[in-house]
Amino acid sequence: MKSLLASRGWFPATSGNLSRKLSGIGEPLVFAVTASGKDKTRLTPEDYLIVDKDCRPVEPTRLKPSSETAIHAEIYRRVPDAQAVLHVHTIYNNLISDIYFTEGGITFSHVELIKALGYWGDNDRVDLPIVDNPAAIPALTQLIGQRLNPQIPGILIRNHGIYAWGDYMFAARRHLEAFEFLFEYQYKRMLIQGAANRC
Ligand SMILES: [Zn+2]
Repeated sequence: MKSLLASRGWFPATSGNLSRKLSGIGEPLVFAVTASGKDKTRLTPEDYLIVDKDCRPVEPTRLKPSSETAIHAEIYRRVPDAQAVLHVHTIYNNLISDIYFTEGGITFSHVELIKALGYWGDNDRVDLPIVDNPAAIPALTQLIGQRLNPQIPGILIRNHGIYAWGDYMFAARRHLEAFEFLFEYQYKRMLIQGAANRC
């Protein structure tokens, strides 16, 4: 999974992180998460560690969890069905998050790819929230907890990146790829409209 996403250049400068829930329904939260600062193009099983709901390693390890691990824990808390969480920083998700930040989110409708997010109706809308990007992770985690909508499998952070999740790893990847498609589509559409308006 991480090598596939890395091959698309979605982990620039060792950024981004992934996690997978290990605990079952009703059990205390335990999940595997990527270690801090690793090159995601060369990840091995030793680059993951297993943490509890407070982001503390559950077994002795020399690895440090990603600094954003608390955000993964918050998503698992708020979305009980989530089994995997993916976080990437891309040019298109940064551009869209900044352009639409003052609106609080971006809405996608009448685009085929929203079906990949589980929206199949002719008039369905996907309202993806966008939150600000405070440097302190506890503040960012709180913002995400406040705005996250369990019906929408993702959230954008302004000029930072996206978190996307799913009820299994493949679904999380499908959601992430659909969102990235929609961001690129929307950005290019704005460029074309801008050029048309100047003619
Ligand atoms: Zn990040």
